[in-house]
Amino acid sequence: MNLLKIMALACLFICCTAADDDQIPLNPKLIFIDNPEKTIKIDIIYVLPSTQINQSIYNLNEMDLINHLNGRFFHRYNIGFILGETRTLINKELYDLRDNRGSEASVFFMETKESYKKDRVNMYIIKRDHTIGIAGLGRNQRALITDKFLYKTTCPHEIGHALGLFHHADENNIMCQINSHSRIIFLDSQVKKMKESIQKINSSY
Ligand SMILES: [Zn+2]
Repeated sequence: MNLLKIMALACLFICCTAADDDQIPLNPKLIFIDNPEKTIKIDIIYVLPSTQINQSIYNLNEMDLINHLNGRFFHRYNIGFILGETRTLINKELYDLRDNRGSEASVFFMETKESYKKDRVNMYIIKRDHTIGIAGLGRNQRALITDKFLYKTTCPHEIGHALGLFHHADENNIMCQINSHSRIIFLDSQVKKMKESIQKINSSY
């Protein structure tokens, strides 16, 4: 594959959500179902600068976040996330992305190459204050979410990318790049794609 093709593919797959602190969580109605058609593990990985700093700086209840994602965004489409492992990644470069403005995506995918687990979705968390232009990133079973956006539509958006979705122009679509405050739905075709990705991830390892 020549360099141009690789670059074009990278543009298609590497996506981010611009930081927008005004977005409001949507889908006020929580919907839980007992046995979603497709389930997949999701690991929560706290990015830390050194062993001297503890993951408690993120002050996150992981199970509550998974319930939030399931109830507000995914169970209604018969997709369920199961909390896998909670782990840490010591990585200064990723912990503070301010020095990498414009190349956050390549830094993210490079720095997580060794730590992501291939039989699940891997959600990396960093501090919002340590990025300049992004709220999150997603591709190839991996999502990076800045802590202030964990309970915003950024989270299902980046998970959508991690499960193979591209952007969509409709403003009410979770995969829309603009107006993050109005993102509510996934389309049938997007749900189908995510289920296929889950099937592939779960069956290939
Ligand atoms: Zn995106």
